[in-house]
Amino acid sequence: MSLPRLELKPQRLAHNAAAVVEACGKHGIEVFGVTKVTRAHPVVVRALVAGGVAGLADSRLENLASIRRTGYAGPLLLLRLPSPSEVAATVALADTSLNSSPEVVAALGAEARRAGKTHRVVLMVDLGDLREGVWPDRAAEVAARMAAVPGIELAGIGTNLTCFGGVVPTHANLRQLVGLAAGLRQALSLPLPVVSGGNSSAMGLIWSGRPPAGLTQLRVGEAIMLGRETVQRRPLTGLCLDVFTVRAEVIEVEHKPAVPVGELGQDAFGRAPVFADRGVRPRAILALGRQDAPPEGLTPLDAGVQILGASSDHLLVDVGDSPQPVRVGDTLSFRPDYAALLALSTSPYVETVER
Ligand SMILES: *Cc1c(COP(=O)(O)O)cnc(C)c1O
Repeated sequence: MSLPRLELKPQRLAHNAAAVVEACGKHGIEVFGVTKVTRAHPVVVRALVAGGVAGLADSRLENLASIRRTGYAGPLLLLRLPSPSEVAATVALADTSLNSSPEVVAALGAEARRAGKTHRVVLMVDLGDLREGVWPDRAAEVAARMAAVPGIELAGIGTNLTCFGGVVPTHANLRQLVGLAAGLRQALSLPLPVVSGGNSSAMGLIWSGRPPAGLTQLRVGEAIMLGRETVQRRPLTGLCLDVFTVRAEVIEVEHKPAVPVGELGQDAFGRAPVFADRGVRPRAILALGRQDAPPEGLTPLDAGVQILGASSDHLLVDVGDSPQPVRVGDTLSFRPDYAALLALSTSPYVETVER
């Protein structure tokens, strides 16, 4: 097997998916499994389906297409607002998309009619996180315009939190969403079954057993992949934190001073690094770089290994406290965070393998 590689344990992933599905199901909430952080890897797709998710969701059409190529026949949700230039592909690949622009929904409707389909739309409402969605005071007007488009079924409303602004999902803001949905049902005389209350940041509310009533859907990626909620990155009881492991190969081990020698300017990325003088230490270089993963997103799994930094293609680690000597050709292991998992999954230099 080639190095560097990203190893993935499908049973543990399926276990996490099943646990999230069960915990949400107790409150009448369906789970769409979000695949984007793994570029919708086919092993991930199978594991999420085995875990019983109601559907799969991704932010990119290319990933929805590769999910369909695995033979998956269930519901597909496009998470990122459809690009006006990709309306035809959106209707072809996604059953439902999240939207905030009535103009784009009009184009989706025209395309759906051309294709002899109905496209489902969830209107995104911004409850303060300042990424996508209309401000709540515009929800009624925009929902009415979307619902009137032939070829479109307005399926409900949704929100996204803790992505740009770091706004935490609470009873107050999620009740606001549920209340908006109730008002729209009345005003439009539509069932609007979907109240899509957010992402992994809502898992704390689910695990505490007290989510606000009236949510019907969550779109969950990170909690299933990494076993944590995303407000404080606390582990969720019962979930596996070790689904993914990064392995990389040691290409140099030398004793060197902890502080660079010579006049100091900028590093390869225009920063002026600061060094603590720990004397002369054994250091290893791994064949893994910022092209593959941000070093801040990796946690060493081998005892006595400490990450010093990385350039494009080299990861530098201090191995002075390692219980056994680290040698050229050894493989060291790391746990990736979300940013590292995203980078590793999309690096053409890293293979993802089942383990
Ligand atoms: C990525 C994304 C999600 C999933 O987020 P996680 O934190 O990985 O659970 C949900 N909804 C939208 C709109 C997204 O873009």
